[in-house]
Amino acid sequence: MTFDTLGLFEPLLKTLASLNYQTPTPLQLQSIPAMLQRRDLIATAQTGTGKTAGFALPLLQLLMTAGAPVRANSVRSLILVPTRELAEQVHQSVKTYGQDLPLRTLAAYGGVSINPQMMALRRGVDVLIATPGRLLDLHRQNAIRMSQLQVLVVDEADRMLDLGFADELDALIAILPRQRQTVLFSATFTARLEQLAAQISKDPLRIAVSTPNAAASTVQQWLVPVDRKRKTELFLHLLRDREWGQVLAFVNTRKGADCLVQAIRATGTRVEAIHGDKRQPTRLRALEEFKAGEIQVLVATGVAARGLDIADLPLVVNVDLPIVPEDYVHRIGRTGRAGASGEAVSLVSADEVTHLAAIESLIGELLTRREEAQFEPDHRLPVTTTGGQIKKKPKKPKKPKQTIQPPQPAPVTARNSRIHLGDWLENEPGDKPKPAVSSSSTGKRASARRR
Ligand code: AMP
Repeated sequence: MTFDTLGLFEPLLKTLASLNYQTPTPLQLQSIPAMLQRRDLIATAQTGTGKTAGFALPLLQLLMTAGAPVRANSVRSLILVPTRELAEQVHQSVKTYGQDLPLRTLAAYGGVSINPQMMALRRGVDVLIATPGRLLDLHRQNAIRMSQLQVLVVDEADRMLDLGFADELDALIAILPRQRQTVLFSATFTARLEQLAAQISKDPLRIAVSTPNAAASTVQQWLVPVDRKRKTELFLHLLRDREWGQVLAFVNTRKGADCLVQAIRATGTRVEAIHGDKRQPTRLRALEEFKAGEIQVLVATGVAARGLDIADLPLVVNVDLPIVPEDYVHRIGRTGRAGASGEAVSLVSADEVTHLAAIESLIGELLTRREEAQFEPDHRLPVTTTGGQIKKKPKKPKKPKQTIQPPQPAPVTARNSRIHLGDWLENEPGDKPKPAVSSSSTGKRASARRR
């Protein structure tokens, strides 16, 4: 199957050929014709399935072939995304796919000055990629009108709800024209998302291209049990010992990111961090340098996890396990993209076992455990099951109370020697022989074992 069978027009086919996209991904096979037919769409698709091209290509074609030219301060299509990074990344993709088309595009997100975004909107924008908060700000300041909107795309809808954008989404939906095409993508589908999908779309076509909540099957996943206080040391050891190339490392806190960066930098390795405390241009520069191979390790916090599109990234390391299990799938979605093989390693301490159990339950498999010599944890990582259970450490058998003296062995007679013999025979090979006790208690224990 090739792209020209999907109904895409010549300018886009030429661009795809120049990008060396030869075959559509399974998602694109379904989403492109459906969107061109103006159907609403609800797609379960994780990163790496080619979903950006899956909605951007038909969107660009629809804008070129239908609707009036964009008016001042208006938008003809809106792609809502949860994070700034994703906004930038989707914008890059839209610009790439639409490089030969006379369409105006803009990414609008918070954390940067609103004025340039307001200026850019004055002439009108064909494709606006925006985060919910900033979009509402622009609307409140009368910088944007929605009456010309033809298509709404909601990307990574689950993440949007996880980040607490439910109210913003409701407020935004209320200002959009009812007559529109709606396309919603999400890596996972909860009841809340189903409700949102039903609220914003009409008779949608449902597409699911891979098992919901599963990571790309090409990613090899394993974990190293380690004590929390030795995680940085272990990371540095693995980086050196396994001769790791480029690594995207995830931690849960900004402080944790800064500490890890300091320790890595001290070894002479080129490293940068991207997290919420860093200004947007700094974050983008770090990402660009990482993509260009100028930085070996990029340390990111969870919020930055979405929307990092780094081709052929072979290794993702969870220095901390994410607290929300779906984030694990999103994090390791940075590797093994579009069929490439990848590796995802997690450094897991005993206090993270509940997160581990939740992740394993979500992905439906247990992560392979590989202890690293010299880093065996003092605090044992409890055993987990695919059902999300944590097996408690077996209790040590109670020691007999010291205060009670065992009865002195009676002189061996034909009668009591049989009892002692039975007691010995019941011991496993290698067990310590039990002290001889009275015949009645021995009888109780023997019958308990038989049960
Ligand atoms: P996405 O799932 O949208 O994040 O895309 C994952 C990666 O696959 C991106 O780097 C795209 O450039 C690439 N990609 C998307 N569609 C195709 C295709 N049909 N052929 C080759 N690469 C693709």
